[in-house]
Amino acid sequence: MNITEYFSSIFKGTLSLLKGMQVTGKELFTKKVTEQYPENRATLHIADRFRGTLQFVYDDEGYHKCTACRTCERNCPNGTITITTRSVDMPNGKKKMKLDKYMYDLGSCTFCDLCVTSCPFHAIEFSNDFEQAVFERDALVKQLNYLPEKEKPAPAPKPAADSAAKPATEAAPAQAAKPAAVETPKDQNEEKDQ
Ligand code: SF4
Ligand code: SF4
Repeated sequence: MNITEYFSSIFKGTLSLLKGMQVTGKELFTKKVTEQYPENRATLHIADRFRGTLQFVYDDEGYHKCTACRTCERNCPNGTITITTRSVDMPNGKKKMKLDKYMYDLGSCTFCDLCVTSCPFHAIEFSNDFEQAVFERDALVKQLNYLPEKEKPAPAPKPAADSAAKPATEAAPAQAAKPAAVETPKDQNEEKDQ
């Protein structure tokens, strides 16, 4: 290395150092974006569409909409959802399969949203609650139908048949209007034979 190259390398090094310090100095005065978590938990903004964990959609009266059709379970690519059902007796004497347990393993969920978009009853959704850290993997397996199952009130009995409430003249107009039986040649022959 000759003397010219020596001083040139010192100049380039100094220039590079000044450029780096310029960037650092600029960041000293720009607005800070670092989240002071968890100190700012009360004011932390999480995007509504952030997928934190799967949950049931419960209405104000505590009913969920899951019919245990298993569509979400079949569409989940990695077996994150396990649904068990039980047979219940209906007021009409028939049996019906109802949801027993809806188990969701957050530890294996890829948050692909296929279960939510494939549910025909809009019974599940993703909450944006991101604080899901636990000490045991087993704690990541959650039962989504955690509220006690509520039986829906039996449907009101149907009103009495319309025909019973209507006057006799209105109830049987068809019979009144029915024309008298026309005697056919076949009938006449049968009468003669007797
Ligand atoms: S969450 Fe939806 S798709 Fe899954 S079992 Fe319930 S009703 Fe069916
Ligand atoms: S988001 Fe995807 S991986 Fe997670 S439970 Fe739904 S379908 Fe399965």
